[in-house]
Amino acid sequence: MSATVIDGKKIAEALRGRIAAGVRDMIGRHECQPCLAVVLVGDDPASQIYVRNKGKATREAGMRSLEHRLPADASQADVLGVVRALNADNEVDGILVQMPLPAHIDAQAVIGEIDPAKDVDGLTVTNAGRLALGAKGLVSCTPQGCVILAKEVTPKLEGLHAVVLGRSILVGKPLSMLLLAENCTVTMAHSRTKDLADVCRSADILCAAVGKPRLVKGDWIKQGATVIDVGINRIEEGGKTRVVGDVDYEAAAQRAGAITPAPGGVGPMTIACLLKNTLVAAARRRGFAEPNV
Ligand code: NAD
Repeated sequence: MSATVIDGKKIAEALRGRIAAGVRDMIGRHECQPCLAVVLVGDDPASQIYVRNKGKATREAGMRSLEHRLPADASQADVLGVVRALNADNEVDGILVQMPLPAHIDAQAVIGEIDPAKDVDGLTVTNAGRLALGAKGLVSCTPQGCVILAKEVTPKLEGLHAVVLGRSILVGKPLSMLLLAENCTVTMAHSRTKDLADVCRSADILCAAVGKPRLVKGDWIKQGATVIDVGINRIEEGGKTRVVGDVDYEAAAQRAGAITPAPGGVGPMTIACLLKNTLVAAARRRGFAEPNV
């Protein structure tokens, strides 16, 4: 294996340390403790784990953590009511509604109700639009984490060809916008892209956000490229359940210049960027100087 391993855990830990320092500073200067509220509807086991982890990370950063749990049969009006109450609560700086919501709830309508100033997931039309316009807003966490990881090995991304596999609202689209803002030449590839392997081979930076285990083969990687693997896929292998990314890691690491492991790459950055967005949202809402984390 020749590639540099981009250690997302370590980079996220350092970022979380800087955020905790920013929180201490805000409390010290302004007696203001940033607060993140998470809304969980139903009892999906994976969502429960995610919410628990987010709460723990929030408290570890020195912020206040609120959790609002609603039963799986909660109505659309119930969920909207919770979001509206959190919008109105001046002590709440960030609101995150854990996805997926039960099928009878209109997720877009719920996201649309979140005050854009508290939209720490960056999913409202306002924040997605600001990103597209290159204006200041709150940027969704996973794409933000991907760019931080890419810049860890290549601080200046300008002029590089970035290929983003996947065009989801959560990852692929905002990630493409962020890379464009870094002055990359961006190609968005997806399930209907022709000659996907060749498109990938032209990438200086290849970001895979597809949700297909090891879709990206070793010989799809340009020699020396940076590979950012967003995928989290649970597979059965050798009688065990294990998590793998969208990239065939072992093979890709033979050709890449740098690569994120999955797990241990993008995942830890997502939660760190959520905390960062909460701190930034708190500063902006309250008119404090923006923390430099
Ligand atoms: P999604 O299902 O919403 O979107 C998948 C995208 O991949 C689509 O745009 C689709 O066009 C594209 N696609 C599907 N099959 C393809 C193929 N054969 N070739 C090329 N493109 C193809 O998924 P998502 O929410 O964007 O998530 C993608 C992956 O990232 C999943 O594994 C998810 O678990 C993971 N994820 C990880 C984090 C993290 O924190 N690490 C956060 C969000 C998502």
